[in-house]
Amino acid sequence: MKRRRKLKKKPVMILLLSIFLIIVLTIFAVKTIKELNYRKTLEYKIMTIGYSKDEYDLLERKTNKEFMENLLTKEYDKMYINILKETYYIPSKVNQYINYYDNHLNSKANEIVSMVNVGSDKKWYEDVKDTDTSKDLLMLNNKFNKLSKDYVPDDLVNVKNWYAYGNNPQLRQEAYDSFINMFNAAKEEDLTIIINSAYRPYSSQEKLYAQYVDKDGEEVADTYAARPGHSEHQTGLTVDVTTYGVQGEDFDKTDEFKWLQEHAHEYGFILRYPKDKENLTGYAYESWHYRYVGIEAATIIHNSNITFDEYYAYYIENA
Ligand SMILES: [Zn+2]
Repeated sequence: MKRRRKLKKKPVMILLLSIFLIIVLTIFAVKTIKELNYRKTLEYKIMTIGYSKDEYDLLERKTNKEFMENLLTKEYDKMYINILKETYYIPSKVNQYINYYDNHLNSKANEIVSMVNVGSDKKWYEDVKDTDTSKDLLMLNNKFNKLSKDYVPDDLVNVKNWYAYGNNPQLRQEAYDSFINMFNAAKEEDLTIIINSAYRPYSSQEKLYAQYVDKDGEEVADTYAARPGHSEHQTGLTVDVTTYGVQGEDFDKTDEFKWLQEHAHEYGFILRYPKDKENLTGYAYESWHYRYVGIEAATIIHNSNITFDEYYAYYIENA
């Protein structure tokens, strides 16, 4: 009796043991397959070069598969991550950033992003596009963007002599209205902002530029004067200003200049060619040249200390 019971118990044990083994083996197999599959993923491969999980997530969010696959052929480089973290990073330009970095290894991430965004990874006047005039008050006219010979703003108005020196300057209506508000606000503090030059048609710029080239040669002339079609003055949204008794470059020593530094953006104007931004704007510092872009854009540009070229690339073109 006892013996028979023992015999009956054994197959049950074997069965249970087998089930247990099958379960363990299955779990193991599933885990192994999962692990093998994971090793085939970009995430795993990227992390084997040295990128952290957070860095991988950033790469996945801000670049594309092709870019990451290309990254596998290179060594770990923190700069790639720094570039992705830049405020004005534009995903579609990632390969241009890396190209620029490869050729300028000492650049900082923010410089790389700014230079590429404004097109300064190319030579001035290379790869010139037509200015997109549909952007109206925010149109960009610089060394990479050109207005046609016959572009004339359709709402030019004459500036009253009260606000300007000679030659009957003209401005677009909205820029003029805002200039008057700015002029009056400065007047309340006994400051006088006088317009020296405003709208310039293509033909005037053509003559002006030719004179400069005659005088200084093309290379030097290009640092301070725009080629025809490339002058912001053709937009009718730009003023060169001065005040009583001041000649050109000395304007930045005046109280009027200081006031403009603090308040121009409140009236939609920006200092278009700031100091130390020649790389981005293509022009030497001009304390007297102000561009009307509207209060919203001017405030962003002023508060973030960026150039209009950078603003345009990120907020207009990229939008
Ligand atoms: Zn100017």
